[in-house]
Amino acid sequence: MDFTPATADQVLAIKVNAGIEELAAQPRFAAASADMVEAIVEGIGQFAAGEFAPLNRIGDSQGAALADGTVSLPGGFAEAYSAYVAQGWNAVAGDEAYGGQGLPFTLAANVLENLGAANMAFSLLPMLTVGAIEALAHHGSAAQQALYLPKLISGEWSGTMNLTEPQAGSDVGALRTTAVPTGDGRYAIKGTKIYITWGEHDLASNIVHLVLARTPGAPAGSRGISLFVVPKFHVGADGSPGPRNDLRCVGLEHKLGIHASPTCVMSFGDNDQCYGELVGHENEGLKAMFTMMNSARINVGSQGVQIAERALQAAKAYALGRVQGTRDRQPAAIVEHPDVRRMLLRMRALTEGARALLYYTAGMTDRGALGIEGAQERADCLVPLIKAWGTDIGCEVASLGIQIHGGMGFVEETGAAQHYRDARIAPIYEGTNGIQAADLVTRKLDYEQGGVLASLFADVAADCSDAPQLRALAEDCAEVAQWMAREASLDDKLAGSVPLCTMAATAVAGWQLLRQARDGGGGEAKIVVARYFAEHLAPEARGLKSAALAGAGLLYALDAAALAG
Ligand SMILES: Cc1cc2nc3c(=O)[nH]c(=O)nc-3n(C[C@H](O)[C@H](O)[C@H](O)COP(=O)(O)OP(=O)(O)OC[C@H]3O[C@@H](n4cnc5c(N)ncnc54)[C@H](O)[C@@H]3O)c2cc1C
Repeated sequence: MDFTPATADQVLAIKVNAGIEELAAQPRFAAASADMVEAIVEGIGQFAAGEFAPLNRIGDSQGAALADGTVSLPGGFAEAYSAYVAQGWNAVAGDEAYGGQGLPFTLAANVLENLGAANMAFSLLPMLTVGAIEALAHHGSAAQQALYLPKLISGEWSGTMNLTEPQAGSDVGALRTTAVPTGDGRYAIKGTKIYITWGEHDLASNIVHLVLARTPGAPAGSRGISLFVVPKFHVGADGSPGPRNDLRCVGLEHKLGIHASPTCVMSFGDNDQCYGELVGHENEGLKAMFTMMNSARINVGSQGVQIAERALQAAKAYALGRVQGTRDRQPAAIVEHPDVRRMLLRMRALTEGARALLYYTAGMTDRGALGIEGAQERADCLVPLIKAWGTDIGCEVASLGIQIHGGMGFVEETGAAQHYRDARIAPIYEGTNGIQAADLVTRKLDYEQGGVLASLFADVAADCSDAPQLRALAEDCAEVAQWMAREASLDDKLAGSVPLCTMAATAVAGWQLLRQARDGGGGEAKIVVARYFAEHLAPEARGLKSAALAGAGLLYALDAAALAG
């Protein structure tokens, strides 16, 4: 149950994979000096271990509760959130004009990695606020930014993203919530949203809901969606909270995991008195959402790393202490058995590989923000890889963690089971992993007619001459991508999308891990972990090539009724 922040590995990944020194050489990020990076990574690690981690178990066993429209958390959550805000952790990457520290996204991602490893359910509160900040920072009016950003950046107020409705999940364009102009610059919002993370709670003094809705006469589908800012408490021109808006939480979901994260059914405008303001232009809501989706998807990919780290730490400790069987006729801790070693090394290679991919993606996102040529396009291609593969490995590593605990993993006592339950949501929300893979083989493969992905795979192959299986995997990825770009039908591409996404993520993660090993900062252990990744995981991923190229034919060999029958 103990949690130790992975500070050294994070510093290494931020240095090697995000390339923080290069970022700090740019005037905008000059404050991100080596000392500053270490201070942040160490500081947030200690904070997370001291304040968030002790609440992980009680958050799971008691969870969030709804009574009389108010959502409350177990004792200790409010104090920990206040300390988080008071110490300025929420403001790391915020715009300096609104009280932020203006540091790279990479460092804000590190804050969330530490908070989430300590307590994933709790970390969703600041994570969703980041989404609201980004939506307003990129698309809000000057007045909206002045009103909302200072308090969202400090964390005094929290934010939510309201997309999903019962009939509109992956297909956001099917949403029905309405927004009718009232003639005074505002809109009356009416509708029901489901699954809204931290949609109601009492830890922040106001909640700023970002809501997708349709205006009268808007085109059907995703082209007719607009984005609105809808505060829980109306905000006076001087920023002071005013009367309560007509919106409320009408239910909390009972879930497999992340019990301390209230997943709310939100009702807007029951009394026709819910008012919000348009963010950006009418019918451009989805475009606005895409702006914040990149960072949100990276941060969800990070949740796979977070849970994997937690599960790995618990499994290592258990494997060292549990004596079972013998080796060389002596009683042996289970860590001495080859299969337990296999599981531990696999967990470690997946966790550290995913962390390397996470910070490579974060660093590329920062380069994109600096306007460095080609960086944004590459970052866009990396996002589905870290979101889908990062969250898949989170589940796999948590499952292996249970396996290493044997029966003790299946009972709740050790906490291994909580990691497994918590990890399972991440492949689903923020665009399911199937949707991520579809994004890779349609939108992202279209960038420069496949040229952006081709150059990524070429870079991996060129830099992996000392790791032949990784180089071969990168060449396989290039071959599949070329087939998809030139010959495959849309159905064929989609049928092979998940295998390609896994292959591509494995190739890039293995490459980035190799770069860490070459740096030397991770010592002998990193070299072994990188070799294991290249020699054991890359060949497995190569085995997906035939599925990636198989096309959709067999998937449709049975009609839907026969398939289900
Ligand atoms: C705990 C939790 C927290 C959440 N937080 C939020 C939040 O804060 N805000 C918010 O707006 N939403 C939130 N969501 C909603 C979440 O984003 C959706 O559940 C998710 O987008 C999937 O939508 P769905 O559940 O309707 O599944 P569906 O869209 O019905 O998907 C079911 C299955 O069909 C597949 N599928 C559907 N369409 C396609 C397609 N075109 N191509 C290939 N496969 C497809 C999916 O991959 C999936 O496997 C949350 C959900 C949960 C459970």
